[in-house]
Amino acid sequence: MTDLISGRVVRLQSGFYTVQTAQGRIICHLRGRLKKGHADGDFITVGDRVQVQVHPEGDGSIEHIEERETALVRLAPTARGVYRQLLAANLDQVVLVFACANPVPHLRMLDRFLVVCEKQGIPPVIVVNKVDLVGKHAAVEMFGEYERIGYPVIYTSATEHKGVRKLHERLVGRCSGLAGPSGVGKSSLLNAVQPELGLAVREVSEAFNKGRHTTTVREMYALNDGGFVVDLPGLRQLSLWDTEPEELDGYFPELRDLVQYCQFNDCTHLDEPGCAVQRAVEEGRVSEARFESYLRMRFGDSLQFEVADE
Ligand code: GDP
Ligand code: ZN
Repeated sequence: MTDLISGRVVRLQSGFYTVQTAQGRIICHLRGRLKKGHADGDFITVGDRVQVQVHPEGDGSIEHIEERETALVRLAPTARGVYRQLLAANLDQVVLVFACANPVPHLRMLDRFLVVCEKQGIPPVIVVNKVDLVGKHAAVEMFGEYERIGYPVIYTSATEHKGVRKLHERLVGRCSGLAGPSGVGKSSLLNAVQPELGLAVREVSEAFNKGRHTTTVREMYALNDGGFVVDLPGLRQLSLWDTEPEELDGYFPELRDLVQYCQFNDCTHLDEPGCAVQRAVEEGRVSEARFESYLRMRFGDSLQFEVADE
């Protein structure tokens, strides 16, 4: 048997997988045994690191899928139950794009995305687009809290080409998932970073949203200067399904270090006496909006199943 070479899945379509290797791109199929035991979910996705056997004809077969460091999963209800779609594996970061206006920023949704990233251990980057519509000052007023918490925030205007270089620098050399509500300017920003990139990503994303999981196209787009970008469609249904309610405060960085000072070990921070989180909210050290997001995720029903829109 010939030696296996390692690579990374950058595209999947109709049962064929394009694997980026040191020797270039190889179109592969997947060994049947790797599909076993995955009736209710995808077994491979873009970003997966794999071992490939190259055939004399130039194509190859994926012989082994390496264990994922991270995986973003979307739950898709089907007639036979819930199907687990693997959106992307082994991302270096998730870029969360929101607009200052048009559409009005939905910070509750941003907070949920952030929790998904924290849960998966994928560093998030917040991109605040359409700064031209409100001005930098107002934009910082809306999103500055996230900088205080410690998240990287990049302020951009795709139309005025502001902040695009910063975004570009952040993308180069990394494998990034891209998420955010529609209309915030994701395609425009990608096009500003690299011409036509946004359009290409959107086409694949639309094919994915329409398709059944057997015919879906997923693709990671290469940046000319190195790195990849992949669209994360339907992040609203991104799964927190295996998250226990007690874990949740650990996914809010500004709460994480406070909870040890709560009087009770199992404090939910709702109405217990001696709660360090409530005290911090009262004293303005934790933002009320973020606390509200925590409470809704903790006591709403969105943890159990899908992260529903409001
Ligand atoms: P997507 O759905 O997130 O990919 O958003 P698009 O890139 O398609 O942009 C949606 C609309 O917002 C388009 O009409 C863009 O021209 C507009 N747009 C995108 N970026 C900006 C921006 O920075 N400022 C303003 N004022 N409009 C923008
Ligand atoms: Zn507490």
